[in-house]
Amino acid sequence: MECHATGEAGHWWLNESLKRLQESYRSRFGASLIIIEGEALEVLQKLVKKYKINQVLWNRLYSPETIKRDTIIKKTLQDQGVDVETFNGHLLNEPWEVQNNSGQYFKVFTPYWRKAFEVYQSKKEKLEKLKSINVINHQENLTFNFLPKKNWYQKFSKYWTPGENAAQDQLSQYLKTNIDIYKEARDRPDLDQTSKLSPYLRFGEISPRTIVLNILKSKKLSASVLTYLSEIGWREFSYSLLYYSKNLASFPINMKFQKFPWRKSNKELDLWKKGKTGIPLVDAAMRQIYEKGWMHNRLRMVVGSFLVKNLLLNWTLGERYFQETLLDYDEASNAAGWQWIAGCGADASPYFRVFNPILQSERFDPQAKFILQYLPQLQTLQKPSSIFQPHLQEQAFKSLINQNLYYEPLVDLKDSRNRALEAYQKIK
Ligand SMILES: Cc1cc2nc3c(=O)[nH]c(=O)nc-3n(C[C@H](O)[C@H](O)[C@H](O)COP(=O)(O)OP(=O)(O)OC[C@H]3O[C@@H](n4cnc5c(N)ncnc54)[C@H](O)[C@@H]3O)c2cc1C
Repeated sequence: MECHATGEAGHWWLNESLKRLQESYRSRFGASLIIIEGEALEVLQKLVKKYKINQVLWNRLYSPETIKRDTIIKKTLQDQGVDVETFNGHLLNEPWEVQNNSGQYFKVFTPYWRKAFEVYQSKKEKLEKLKSINVINHQENLTFNFLPKKNWYQKFSKYWTPGENAAQDQLSQYLKTNIDIYKEARDRPDLDQTSKLSPYLRFGEISPRTIVLNILKSKKLSASVLTYLSEIGWREFSYSLLYYSKNLASFPINMKFQKFPWRKSNKELDLWKKGKTGIPLVDAAMRQIYEKGWMHNRLRMVVGSFLVKNLLLNWTLGERYFQETLLDYDEASNAAGWQWIAGCGADASPYFRVFNPILQSERFDPQAKFILQYLPQLQTLQKPSSIFQPHLQEQAFKSLINQNLYYEPLVDLKDSRNRALEAYQKIK
């Protein structure tokens, strides 16, 4: 199991995942799971002493802080005569295995992925099953509780089943069905046909290698399958950026953005978080994240663009909110995703590309099915075109406002877009 930073929602997944891991250790190997909280080096040293351990193994992590910590641990244990081995359990390739012809890391996705897929295929990996492991016979009956403080997590179990078995089932089901229409369907939140493997990947319950090897074994490389593989590629690319950047979640890769004239408004940030911006697609998406601990990729881009461009609020505020509310929060993909949408990342969407939530609704939720799932009160507006822009239906909109069922748009989309473009001129 991977263990980098976990937000509030992620603690629910962590808790459930550890329960299943504990059951699986017990039933497969007769082993107990030991969980100890504390400074990693101190804890490991105590365990090494107590059980006379001569070898310590772990899967590598990739942020500069975790690398720093783990390098110290490795060196200290080795100096004490313990054999230490580390592995890649989280990626197709190690970031340093994928370099351009000048020995530099890639800053543009397409050539990165071309090379990365080639490097991975050249390894000729095969699917293997874990046969057995040696266990310490440790009889403690461990109870633990990592659940979030707020009880909004209770509904997550309606939508998700954490654990390795569920991850395998999800993958097999997906390969039998929706992967073949991925290319056309992936952008449609109303169709909801993406693989939903992200939280499993995040918690190391399935590895990208298991996904890719199963695909290569069972599927023809159709346009849909290649598109799906390239999304796994975006995850890899994000890890490469995490590894080579100083602090991907806080510092823009494009340094000019350090001087960007962001606005400050706790009130607007709060309305965005609560899904009360008066822009239905944005509000429905923000309710999806709160309800399911997950948001469709297209909507992550729409709400991100709205926060950063229409509201002109700093992208790191959105990054932090997603960190707390996403079950699949991943320190590489989340930070890279926010930098991409803010226009300050590597190979990012240009700052002047402002997603128009109305046009996005028309293209990707044409019947307003997704919006109505989260904002059923807008049903009274009837036509999708009115649901996308309730304020244009004066009478019906007034009635919704009077009953406190919906909100005035927080900003005018055109004016706020122009304001964003003017702000961008200041750092260009
Ligand atoms: C602002 C923003 C924040 C994001 N934050 C996260 C995050 O914290 N954790 C996370 O896993 N993904 C994040 N993503 C990427 C993407 O939205 C999710 O991976 C995807 O929606 C997960 O759903 P799925 O498993 O059904 O994806 P599918 O479409 O089925 O894709 C399969 C897998 O490919 C990977 N993937 C797909 N799209 C991307 C992408 N754009 N970048 C990186 N990996 C991708 C994921 O591992 C995903 O599980 C973010 C994107 C944006 C724009």
